[in-house]
Amino acid sequence: MRDPHSFSRPDQVSVSHLDWLAYVDFGTTTLTANATWTLDKHSDRASQVIFDMNGLHITSVVDQDGDTLEYSLGIAMEGRPYLGIPLSVEIRENTQKVSIGYTTSPNAAALQWLTAEQTRDKKYPFLFTQSQAILARTWIPCQDGPGVRFTYEAQVEVPPGMLALMSAENPQHISEDGSYHFKMEQRIPSYLMALAVGDIAYKPIGRNTGVYAEPSYVDACAWELADMQDMLDQAEGLYGEYAWGRYDVIVLPPSFPFGGMENPRLTFATPTIIAGDRSLTALVAHELAHSWSGNLVTNANWNDFWLNEGFTVYFENRIMEKVYGKDYADMLKVLEYNDLSATVEEFGKSSSDTHLKLELSDRDPDDGMSDIAYNKGAYFLRLLEQTVGREKFDVFLHTYFQSHAFEVMDTETFVAYLQEHLIEPNKAAFEGIDINAWIYGPGIPDNCPVVVSERFNLVDSALAAWKNGTPPAELNTKDWSTHEWLRFIKSLPDEITADQMTALDQAFSFTGTGNCEVADVWYELALHRQYEPAYPAIDTFLCAVGRRKFLTPLYKAMIGTESGKAMAMDIYKRARPTYHYVAVNTLDAMLGWDQEER
Ligand SMILES: [Zn+2]
Repeated sequence: MRDPHSFSRPDQVSVSHLDWLAYVDFGTTTLTANATWTLDKHSDRASQVIFDMNGLHITSVVDQDGDTLEYSLGIAMEGRPYLGIPLSVEIRENTQKVSIGYTTSPNAAALQWLTAEQTRDKKYPFLFTQSQAILARTWIPCQDGPGVRFTYEAQVEVPPGMLALMSAENPQHISEDGSYHFKMEQRIPSYLMALAVGDIAYKPIGRNTGVYAEPSYVDACAWELADMQDMLDQAEGLYGEYAWGRYDVIVLPPSFPFGGMENPRLTFATPTIIAGDRSLTALVAHELAHSWSGNLVTNANWNDFWLNEGFTVYFENRIMEKVYGKDYADMLKVLEYNDLSATVEEFGKSSSDTHLKLELSDRDPDDGMSDIAYNKGAYFLRLLEQTVGREKFDVFLHTYFQSHAFEVMDTETFVAYLQEHLIEPNKAAFEGIDINAWIYGPGIPDNCPVVVSERFNLVDSALAAWKNGTPPAELNTKDWSTHEWLRFIKSLPDEITADQMTALDQAFSFTGTGNCEVADVWYELALHRQYEPAYPAIDTFLCAVGRRKFLTPLYKAMIGTESGKAMAMDIYKRARPTYHYVAVNTLDAMLGWDQEER
């Protein structure tokens, strides 16, 4: 099966190991690097090896003895520039390694170069990567599909005074000469290649867990993520040994476009989870769960993305239940369901983009990755759990992870495995349950498990009291977590008046809150209701935060009206240079942003 998003032909020649040497140049915002790939030939007649690349300037290609190898650069496919181009290298019978010298483009999509001003401590510039889904090829020539795994070693040179970290065995202290060596002994796919460079400090949390962040922030981050070790221990208890040695988290500057990225041994995380009350740590449980679902058993290509994300959301919730209790986990499940319903509503109930098994072959995979894979996937697994009972389902999942460790998985292989190991042995229980409707069909099937949250019921009571005239300050909101506040704000009536919003704002200080999740839903409502007192704070928020999940709904809420559109364009013009490519890519399309407007 060919990966529709890669030019490489690992069925003919694949790679098994990478030796990477790189100089990080903040002056030119480029990497000058050498990627030496060890080859695995699957045919004696193989005469070339093909790599994916996008925007790289190739300077040399040689074999293990330093002898020059012929190579050619292909041309981009019509209408699919995001794939980049193939780099085909001629190989001989005795070619064991191919060593590619190159420089990255200053615009490389995976790399975000921040000036010192864009960091928290403002002393040093910062660099981080985001390779998923198909951006690794913008900083390393590679066989850039999740189906190809390799080990790696790296030597990275950065300016003195800065720390470099990778998805590998990492240093905990800044080296004097800016030289760092990395080793990843477990085989990983290219989308898990990661690098971060900056003024970064380390603080341990537990036995094999810890946090990296800018020096002035590392204590706050370590306090917020204090439960990491417990999460890791609970996760191991559920689905088997953690396969990666250490588990650390780096809290990045605010332009990181995602909540988190499950880079092995070192999760990359947004600072928007540092809420000050430990209420947004589900994200760490999520990225940690990927150490099994995704990093250990990996989707074969991006059409099978739900095998990574659906399993991870399910697993994340199980970890949260272990650490914080069922009431807490139930809130998260209800929020997932609400998000899922909203996405199905937006795409249309019969849209093929609401299938678990996606068809992204002709598209940039990043465009097709919605929360369907995450939340519909998780609810499908909950249906399986509900059908056979938790005990049997846990045994099934434990065995699934352990028996497919360091392998790829596609939807059809999983369905066959599910059939043999769960459905057949529990035939009677599965009577009348059509799993294909979930995987290959649209929308939310009728047998979707129903979750009730006791804690949300209390929020709904408070909301009813408010509607009946109880002043906001007298509502029982004691001990509410972020999730309860989200429930409250999202349930406010569409026709809420400016006076009512002012009263709520006075009681609860939503406008200007440091909790980005709360800020995001409040600002979305403010934009819909044209509640202008929040506008300056919305401007500040959009210029300070680069997490795509927060940006998209706010810009969308603005562009509905003429004046809103003008406001959106004004803010975007200023904020765009601070956003990562991944966010820019989505927002440019949504706002109809023309490059020339820059
Ligand atoms: Zn995930």
